Amino acid sequence: MEIQGQSVPVDDPRKETAALYKTSGIKVVKNAEDKPSAGPPFRGVPPDLETYRSRGHRRLDARTYDTKCTTCIWGCRMPVEMIIDQWNPSKKQYRFETFCYGPKSCPFYRPGPARKVPGRKGMSYTEEDWVDEDATAHRGPDD
Ligand code: SF4
Repeated sequence: MEIQGQSVPVDDPRKETAALYKTSGIKVVKNAEDKPSAGPPFRGVPPDLETYRSRGHRRLDARTYDTKCTTCIWGCRMPVEMIIDQWNPSKKQYRFETFCYGPKSCPFYRPGPARKVPGRKGMSYTEEDWVDEDATAHRGPDD
């Protein structure tokens, strides 16, 4: 479905679950087709959260997300929680990261640079590729 309208960006996206609010003047420009497009990007009604959790995700390059994946049901930008000191788990930081839950064979997919997580006393942890490979090892390339 394609719609148009006017919205106001939230003041601080780090503190809101939505990017826009006060939406008005919504008009349907093009109604939904019966069949979701073959993709990519894969469009249609997103599955339930349990389906996302069971699929597992891979990191997704933020620029690829912005340019190719915002309309795909398998792409997301979401807040992540980082425990900075494992001896003091209450010490946390938050940031946004982009992920793909889609087929591993998707030609749009780019992982982007390995992510670094800040640690105690100025140290940092690099999340290696095996983390994503492990999280999606139960799926075939086209699942
Ligand atoms: S890379 Fe992932 S999110 Fe982007 S179009 Fe492909 S399946 Fe969808």
